[in-house]
Amino acid sequence: MSLELVTIPCRTDNYAYLVHDAASGQTAVIDVPDAAPILVELNTRGWQLSDILLTHHHDDHISGVEALRTATGAMVLGAAADAHRLPPLDYALTEEASFAIGSEKVRIIDVPGHTVGHIAFHFPDSKLAFTGDSLMSAGCGRLFEGTPVQMHASLQKLAALPPETLICSGHEYTASNLRFAVTLEPDNPQLISRVTAVADFRAKGLPTVPVRLSTELDTNPFLRAHLPAVKASVGLPDADAATVFTEIRARKDRF
Ligand code: ZN
Ligand code: FE
Repeated sequence: MSLELVTIPCRTDNYAYLVHDAASGQTAVIDVPDAAPILVELNTRGWQLSDILLTHHHDDHISGVEALRTATGAMVLGAAADAHRLPPLDYALTEEASFAIGSEKVRIIDVPGHTVGHIAFHFPDSKLAFTGDSLMSAGCGRLFEGTPVQMHASLQKLAALPPETLICSGHEYTASNLRFAVTLEPDNPQLISRVTAVADFRAKGLPTVPVRLSTELDTNPFLRAHLPAVKASVGLPDADAATVFTEIRARKDRF
């Protein structure tokens, strides 16, 4: 049986996610921008939090960890590489590590770029991937610490997951990311229809995440740097995908 997934808006435009295994009662949260809205969801559902999973060290993903740990006694798991700047970890994770929520195995994927120690959590059986500020809905995180080549390689790993995977990313940035994407591919029909769909969701106040990886592959320019049409649109028809990615990221920074 698949895990139950709950998307929780936090702060201005952050998201936390709960995953719950009904059989064991185990419940994990992915990122803690704020403890209060997460505690409300746990109480409403009568779920006991067992695990706090952290994608990266930025304050808008960890600031509620101590309050949530104190309130629930949950274990805190995060990247070993960033243990020195994450809240104290009960388990320090490497890409080789795996653990389980209930009977469901969780894989760690190193996705450096936004930060050097950024990780993603992949739940293959439930087809969920929690990508924080690496792969984002219609975009990718800014390169605060890593290089474009690193981020490109990280996104390649995520792009290789099964296309039906639901990408659960850390922010509500879809609409502005799409505004940039259409400057590169104004004639991409999937992109045009996604712009309309996302505007409808936002008009109703609904989150635009999670999103299927297949949708991202069709519309996210940062997953499309290898395509001739995208190369041509940035004036680099003969460049390799990493070079095109680097140009796209630079343009987005100026957008
Ligand atoms: Zn961040
Ligand atoms: Fe963030």
